[in-house]
Amino acid sequence: MIAMTEHHLPDYLGAKGGHLTLDGHDLVDLAQEHGSPLFVFSERRLAANASSFLKAARQGHKRARVFFASKACSNLHVLKVIRAQGLGIEVNSGGELWKALAVGFVPNEIVFNGVAKMVPELEQAIGHGIQAINVDSAFELSRIAEVATRLGKIATVALRVVPGIGGGATAGIQTGSERSKFGMGQEELQAALAIARNFPKALDVAGMHLHIGSQVLDMPDFLESVSFTARQAREIAASLGKPLKHLNLGGGYPIDYAHRRKGANNNDGFDLSAFAADHPAANMVGAVAAAAARELGNEAEIFFEPGRSMVADAALLLTRIESQRKRGTMPWLYLDAGYNLLMDSAAVRWYYHMVNAGRMDAPAETPFRVVGPLCDSADCFFDVEGEYLWQALEARLSGLAGVTPEILGEIRTQTVRLPETRRLPAATAPGDLIALLDTGAYSLEEMFQYCGRQRAKAVMIMQDDSVVTLRERDRPEDLLDPAERALLI
Ligand SMILES: *Cc1c(COP(=O)(O)O)cnc(C)c1O
Repeated sequence: MIAMTEHHLPDYLGAKGGHLTLDGHDLVDLAQEHGSPLFVFSERRLAANASSFLKAARQGHKRARVFFASKACSNLHVLKVIRAQGLGIEVNSGGELWKALAVGFVPNEIVFNGVAKMVPELEQAIGHGIQAINVDSAFELSRIAEVATRLGKIATVALRVVPGIGGGATAGIQTGSERSKFGMGQEELQAALAIARNFPKALDVAGMHLHIGSQVLDMPDFLESVSFTARQAREIAASLGKPLKHLNLGGGYPIDYAHRRKGANNNDGFDLSAFAADHPAANMVGAVAAAAARELGNEAEIFFEPGRSMVADAALLLTRIESQRKRGTMPWLYLDAGYNLLMDSAAVRWYYHMVNAGRMDAPAETPFRVVGPLCDSADCFFDVEGEYLWQALEARLSGLAGVTPEILGEIRTQTVRLPETRRLPAATAPGDLIALLDTGAYSLEEMFQYCGRQRAKAVMIMQDDSVVTLRERDRPEDLLDPAERALLI
């Protein structure tokens, strides 16, 4: 049994006069001022997430270091807040490396991941002498050896290994098994070690790396990755004839997207304060780091790479209801934000909780079908693909020998990944403002202009209560590439 210290965070969401507030700011007013759709970040929450994660990791292991996975949100304002809390940064491309350096991270605060790193990116990383390039394949390691030799430098690398652990909320975000595209299995690892031994003047294998997935809810998955690392690091060290200097356990720490009251197990259990009280990611990493101290000792540094758990709940998306209709008795609502702003809602059927930001006093009891504005049937905040597939499956499965209602129920849960309806106040109507909660991770990074839609504006409520613009809403001319602008008349 692992003793967990509870990490508490300040409240940030609230309600006042029927309006949703973030750090005390009235969000209905804010949307009035800045327009919709609008991402709103909380600097307080962002800073608290970063500092409590770092603190918990250090309490568990005195040589723990935390590198923010910048693909979760690489807006420079966000990176600046994260850096001020003492975190390093994890980058996934030359572009992210460039942004990291631009905002002031120094090379030994940067680790670089990626499955297909290009020669110019490797030149950039090796040239700057970053903390570690996490090597995804034996092929890549020989490419790194070539580049380092040509530059007359030593590349500091860590070997990314497949631990065979299937953490992560959906198949698309599981990264720890050989069915995913990431990292080296045992055979490939041996090939990589041979390359490392052949190029001692170009390659310094300083560490090993793994990352099992995103939104990993199960502690045993994380603890298994610690035990795996203990075994694997010993083997690598033996093969190289020297100990590893750091062991990178990756990210994947979860947040509570459902915001349910303790004990409640359906939509009705939503409670603004249910999650503000504690920080599951910090509690988990504290226990993982403590396990690392026991199983891996204190000689090597322990790295963590959280992304989602740093930024997801530090922002919400305000979106206006633009239209409605009824199909039979079911009311439908049409928002001004769709998967153009939240790609994961379509790509991996991600659940974002919705509240009516202007009717916080009314009970959220009426079911609505909620959809986005795009000219695409898939632009729904329910799982339209899953519902169609389920209809076809159910017709074929029910009545078959051995297919019990329990099995049917299980297949349905696996097939239809989002609730059919959202519960909102009965009076919810066009003109109302909906808040999609926990939309700070993998959102700004994944916005696009499909259907001629402008990418959203984003602001941050600062600790001093000023409101800073993180990015402007696209202007109409931003819909054109410079090569198209020549055609403007
Ligand atoms: C995406 C990624 C992370 C961050 O994952 P989260 O689930 O956002 O914490 C960390 N490490 C690597 C290698 C990644 O690809």
